[in-house]
Amino acid sequence: MRYLSTRGHADRKRFCEILLEGLAPDGGLYLPERYPQIDGAALQRLRASFNGGKPGGYAALAFDILSLYIDDIPAADLRALCDKTYTEAVFGTPQIVPLKKLDDGFYLEALSNGPTLAFKDMAMQLLGNLFEYELARRGEELNILGATSGDTGSAAEYAMRGKKGVRVFMLSPHGRMSPFQQAQMFSLMDENIHNIAIEGVFDDCQDIVKDVSNDLAFKRAHKIGTVNSINWARLLAQVVYYFAGYFQATSENTEQVSFTVPSGNFGNVCAGHVARQMGLPIRTLVVATNENDVLDEFFRTGVYRVRGSADTHETSSPSMDISKASNFERFVFDLLGRNGDRVKAFFGEGLSREGRFDLSADPAFAEAARHYGFRSGKSTHANRLDTIRDVFQRHRVMIDTHTADGVKVAREHLEAGTPMVVLETALPIKFAETIVEALGQHPDRPAQFHGIEALPKRVKVMSARTAAVQAYIAEHCTPA
Ligand SMILES: *Cc1c(COP(=O)(O)O)cnc(C)c1O
Repeated sequence: MRYLSTRGHADRKRFCEILLEGLAPDGGLYLPERYPQIDGAALQRLRASFNGGKPGGYAALAFDILSLYIDDIPAADLRALCDKTYTEAVFGTPQIVPLKKLDDGFYLEALSNGPTLAFKDMAMQLLGNLFEYELARRGEELNILGATSGDTGSAAEYAMRGKKGVRVFMLSPHGRMSPFQQAQMFSLMDENIHNIAIEGVFDDCQDIVKDVSNDLAFKRAHKIGTVNSINWARLLAQVVYYFAGYFQATSENTEQVSFTVPSGNFGNVCAGHVARQMGLPIRTLVVATNENDVLDEFFRTGVYRVRGSADTHETSSPSMDISKASNFERFVFDLLGRNGDRVKAFFGEGLSREGRFDLSADPAFAEAARHYGFRSGKSTHANRLDTIRDVFQRHRVMIDTHTADGVKVAREHLEAGTPMVVLETALPIKFAETIVEALGQHPDRPAQFHGIEALPKRVKVMSARTAAVQAYIAEHCTPA
């Protein structure tokens, strides 16, 4: 299997070459040349591998799917990496992603029982093991630089902690994350994890990461890399849980299932698109947004409009607060018949200049719903509170704010005879303030998180200056 860029650059690369890379040289995103096709017999074999979620089933399923896309890691090694990643010890249950039934034909798929209680662990835990494996094979090291306002940073740190050959330098806005999130990240004492709290807002952190990435000499000399959501390996790892959700919601491979996905950067739901293109019987993929409705607007109108910062809202489902959806380019590439020139015209300089493109009159736009099965909807703070209350009162289940956006929008897209699976993307304890607002009571706290706010913290507070961050990295990135 080779990988190509959504913007048409001629190079074709193998999996391990793009694993440690960010964007393609032309600024595009990597996708496989083709999606491997799962026929009826192959789907039956995958169902047998998953084995109803018995111990080891999810890891076996992950191996089967990953090996369709990865041919430059020996099978026995890839199998060992999957076995090591998807364990009950790390994810809390043998099924790894158990379904919770709310009503007949209406389920939550639990993706947030990993170490940081958000779905990003599903992919990031595998990425940590893949990075360690590939860096050891090459005899190289990597210094991961990132900016976070919450979920991504902690998922990356918990995935990379203690991994050989990898260091993490994670910037976060000083004093602006929730006490729980700060405690999760700053209580890590691993030597290869560096928390840097920047005196500024999240955008200041991101600007510093951009400056460092644009300093090519520094980047090369200090082996700087990233783990952001455009990484193909992260997306690929997410494809697996669409299959696991499908097998749990059906007993026959002839049945169809729909999924609703709380969406920000379009990474999670893009994995659903890949699963559907492989032949998994998905009827509808429902994209649920919060007040930051870039994607809902596109699927309703055909207009994709990047928001300015004044137009980007801080909401109570903060991990979906985006001004543009960085993985969306992958779907548009498929939608436009994989025409790299057209994608480049839309997402290249044109987009940064105009801030929008309009496909409403393009015949391809009708295919987003008709051929690719996409629908969308939007949820607000008031909807979130109502949904959290309703699900708690009727089912005694507490859901987090992002999952609530999913449940609200899913209910608008139910079809008789087709099960609906809503992806649960975080646990309520991460967003306790809004849960208290909705229910007047505190969310349950998993035992391993009791008292984490009181643990000692390891964090360096710095002013928002790129040079200062670079000096800190230089000082800490050479092995003693
Ligand atoms: C990251 C995140 C999302 C959004 O996922 P995308 O892949 O960016 O669409 C939704 N919910 C939670 C809790 C998240 O952490």
